[in-house]
Amino acid sequence: MKGFLIDLDGTLYRGHEPIPHADSFIRWLQQHRMPYLLVTNNSSRTPEQVAEHLLELGIEVPAAAVYTSSQAAAKYLTEQRGGSRVHMVGEAGLRIALEASGFAIDGTTPPDYVVQGIDRSFSYEKLTEAVRHVKAGATYVLTNPDRMLPSDGGLMPGAGSLAASITAASGVEPVVIGKPSPIIMAYAIERLGLPAADVWVIGDNVYTDIRGGVVSGCRTALVLTGVATADNVHEQVASAGVTPDLVCDDLAHFIAQFSAFDRS
Ligand SMILES: [Mg+2]
Repeated sequence: MKGFLIDLDGTLYRGHEPIPHADSFIRWLQQHRMPYLLVTNNSSRTPEQVAEHLLELGIEVPAAAVYTSSQAAAKYLTEQRGGSRVHMVGEAGLRIALEASGFAIDGTTPPDYVVQGIDRSFSYEKLTEAVRHVKAGATYVLTNPDRMLPSDGGLMPGAGSLAASITAASGVEPVVIGKPSPIIMAYAIERLGLPAADVWVIGDNVYTDIRGGVVSGCRTALVLTGVATADNVHEQVASAGVTPDLVCDDLAHFIAQFSAFDRS
C-alpha cells in the first residue's frame, strides 16, 4: 500500500483555476482506496474552507483529507506542553485550529507562545506586540516559511516575510512548522498511518514539497504546473540541492510514471 501527501496550490489548482487532470487524479486515488492527505502551508483557511474551494473547482474531498500548517502548529504546541496561552498573529484558519486544541488566544496574561501565520492586516502595532512577547520569553512558532505567494494579481508577501520582520526586531528565529519542516511532514505521515518509505510527496515546489519529502524519507514527485515549470526545473533542482524521484508534466503523467515505478 502506498500513501500520498499532495500539495494544493500549483498542484491541484492555481488560484481559482483547477489544473488539468487534478480531478481525475483525486478520483484515481479514491477509486484505488489509496490513503492520501492534501497538505498545505496556507494557514489562513480551515480544512472545511479548503474542501469547499476544491468543490467549486470540481474536486470532491472530505475536509478530513486536508491538513494545514495551522493544524500542525496546534498539534506541535500541544506536544510541547509549554502552557496554553497564545498570542496569535494570523487569520481565521489559525485561530480556529488553536482554539479547537484548547489554547487561549490573547488573554490578559503574558503568552507562552507567539504563533504567527499569514496576516493580511499585519501592522506596525502587531509587529511591536509580537516582538515584545518574544523578547519577554514567549516561544515563537511560525506556521510556514513561504516568503512570497502566488495570487490572482501576481506575487504577494507570505508568512515568511512577516516573520523576517519579527526576527529582525527580536533577534529570535522561529520554530518553523510548515513544509519543508519535518514537523508537518511527520504529523502528515503519522495521519496516513504508513511508513515514510511508502509515502509519496507530490508538489510543484522543490524548496518546500520536494525538500520536505526528501528530509522525511518519502518518495517525491515534482509536477511542472506551478512554481516549477519545464523552463526552470533544472535551475530550481540544482539550486535546491534535492532531486525528486519523478518529474511529471502533470498529474496524469504522474499516474503513468508511478505505475511503472511501482512495478520496478
Ligand atoms: Mg504548491
